[in-house]
Amino acid sequence: MPGTIHLLPEDLTSRIAAGEVVERPASIVKELLENSLDAGATDVLVVLEGGGAVSIRVVDNGTGIDPGEAPLAFQRYATSKIDRFEDLWSVRSFGFRGEALPSIASVARVEMTTRTRPQPAGTRIVVQDGEILEVSEAGGAPGTTLFVSRIFEAVPVRKKFLRSEKTEQGACLDVVLRIALAHPRVRIRVTASGRDLLNLPATEDPAERNALVLGPDFAGECVALSGAAGGLSLTGFISRPERTRSSTRQMLFFVNGRYVRDALIHRAVMTACRRRIEARRYPSSLLFLDMAPAEVDVNVHPAKMEVRFRRPGEVFQHVHDAVERALSGYSPVISEGSSPSGGTFRPFPGTGRVEEALRRYMIRTEGGDTPDGGTRGIPPAGPSYRPSGSDRPAEYVPLVPEIPTGGEPGTAYEYIGQVAGTYLLFGTADGLMIVDQHAAHERILYERLRRRERDRPPESQQLLIPEVVALPRKELRFLVENASTLEETGVFLEPFGGDALVVKSLPAFLEAGDIRSFLLDLAEEVGGEAPSGKGISTLRDRMLVFMSCRGAVKARQDMSRQEALALLSALGDEPQAATCPHGRPVVVRFGAADLEKLFHRR
Ligand code: ADP
Ligand code: MG
Repeated sequence: MPGTIHLLPEDLTSRIAAGEVVERPASIVKELLENSLDAGATDVLVVLEGGGAVSIRVVDNGTGIDPGEAPLAFQRYATSKIDRFEDLWSVRSFGFRGEALPSIASVARVEMTTRTRPQPAGTRIVVQDGEILEVSEAGGAPGTTLFVSRIFEAVPVRKKFLRSEKTEQGACLDVVLRIALAHPRVRIRVTASGRDLLNLPATEDPAERNALVLGPDFAGECVALSGAAGGLSLTGFISRPERTRSSTRQMLFFVNGRYVRDALIHRAVMTACRRRIEARRYPSSLLFLDMAPAEVDVNVHPAKMEVRFRRPGEVFQHVHDAVERALSGYSPVISEGSSPSGGTFRPFPGTGRVEEALRRYMIRTEGGDTPDGGTRGIPPAGPSYRPSGSDRPAEYVPLVPEIPTGGEPGTAYEYIGQVAGTYLLFGTADGLMIVDQHAAHERILYERLRRRERDRPPESQQLLIPEVVALPRKELRFLVENASTLEETGVFLEPFGGDALVVKSLPAFLEAGDIRSFLLDLAEEVGGEAPSGKGISTLRDRMLVFMSCRGAVKARQDMSRQEALALLSALGDEPQAATCPHGRPVVVRFGAADLEKLFHRR
C-alpha cells in the first residue's frame, strides 16, 4: 500500500547514501587510503582487525588537516579538492565528492587524529553514527590517523552480508594491492593481528613494486608495452601468449592512476590477443593509461570504479595497437640469455634488485578464499602446457615444401629427432626445446596467409580440370555468398547451377584430395557458429585459420631432419609464434634451471 510522500530524515538519507560508497570493509580501506594519497602521504600503514570487519586503522604522513577544518571533513559534500563543477574536468585527486568520511561515519565510529606540519598540536575528533561526539586537542606526528570501529553496527543488514574474516581481509588486501601498483613511490604496509601481511618499500622502480605485488615470476611471464598518441599514453605489461589464466582477475587497468573495471579496455586487450590465446583464457595485463583529466569522466560510479571516456574509439584503438605491438615483438624461438621459461622478452630493468627486495621484504599472502584459489595478488602461473595432439581429420596431405628446405639455419639449435611422430626435439645452448610440428606449421601458414591477404591473393593452384561439386543447400549458399572472401585465401569457385558449384583453383599449399569433403568442412567449420569470442573473430580470419590448419603438417607425420630445421627456422621468423592460431602453445622449453629442478639438483 503506497504511503504519503515525505522527506526522509537526514540520518537515514546519509545511511542510504553510505550504502553506495561503503559496501564492505574493503570499501572503507579504499576510501581512507585514497584520502591519504590525496594528502600527499609517502608512507601509509593499514591495520586490520577481524579482516577489517572489526576495525580499520590507517596512519599516514600526509598534509594533515587544520584544527578548524577537521569537523568539516565529516560533513557531506565537504571537500578541499574541488570548488566549482568545472573542476571535475581537471581533478587529479581520487576524491572530490566529499562523501567518504561522512558515509563511513554514518555506519561506524570514526576517530581521527590529525596534525599539519606548521601546527604545534593536532586535533582529535570522534564521530559516531553521523554525530560528532568529541573535538579536542591532541599530540602526535604530522599526518592523519583514522581509526574506524563498530563497523555496520547501526546497519545490521550490512553486517549480516559480511563474509568470513578471511574473505573480507582478502578483499581489503586486494584494494591495497591495486592502489599499491599505481603508487610505487609510496611505502605501504598492512598488518593484521600484529603481523605483517604486506610490506612494500617505496621504490622509484615500478618493476620492483610489480614483482612484489604480482609475484616474482610476473616479469618472466610478460612483455612490456608502451605507446603515446593524441594525448593518450599507455605503459604496462601483458603476459606472453602461452602464459594465460582462467580468469580475468589478473587483468588490471588503471586510468590516471585510478584502478578501474572497464569493458572497453578489456575488449581492446582481448581483441588484440585473438588468435594468440585459447578460448576462455585471459592474459595477465597491467595497463596504465594516462590522459588529460578532461578526457575522462570519473564521476559515473559511486565507488569511482568505472569511468567514461570522452573519445572511447581512440582509447580502444590505442590500447589495442599497443598490446598488438607488444605481442608482435615477441618470438618464442630466438632466445638470448635463456630464462627458465625461455622466450625473448625484454627483462625488466632491475630484476636482480627485485629478487633482492623479495628476500628483504616479505609479502605474505595468506587469507582469502577467492574464486581462483586463494593467493592474494596475482599468483605466478605454473607451466600449464597442454600437449597438443592431432585433432584434425587427415584427408589432406599437406605440402611440406611450403617450408623452405635448405641447409642448417644459422641458429644454435641442434635437431635431436622427432618423438611420438608429433614433437620435434632440439638441443639448445643450455637445455631442450620441444616444438609441436602441427601447431608450429599452422602458425607459420596463418601468418603468411594473413600477410598476403593485405597485398595480394595467395598463390593458388589451378585445377587441371575444374571440379564440379554438388553440395547441400546451406553449405552451397554459404560458399557462394562468401566467394570473394574465399578468393583471398586462394579458393576460386563459382555457382554451377542447381545444387552444384565449380571449383577452379585451391591454395597452392593444399593438396587437392577429396574436394567435396574439404568444402563441406570449410562451410561447416567457418560458416557455423564461431565457438567463442564470436564478435572478435571475423569470417575471413576463421577462413585463414581453417586453411592454415588444413595446410599444416599433421601430427603423426614423419619429418625429415631438413624439414624439421626448416620449420624451426621459419618459426624463428614469426614473431607471433608462441602459440598456434587456436592459442595452443607451439614451443615448450626447458632451460638449465628447469632441468636442474627436474633432477633435483637444486
Ligand atoms: P573527498 O576525498 O571526496 O574530498 P572525503 O570525505 O574522503 O572527501 O574527505 C573530506 C576531506 O577531508 C578531504 O577533502 C580532505 O580535505 C580531508 N581529508 C580526509 N582524509 C584526509 C587525510 N588522510 N589527510 C588529509 N586530509 C584528509
Ligand atoms: Mg576521499
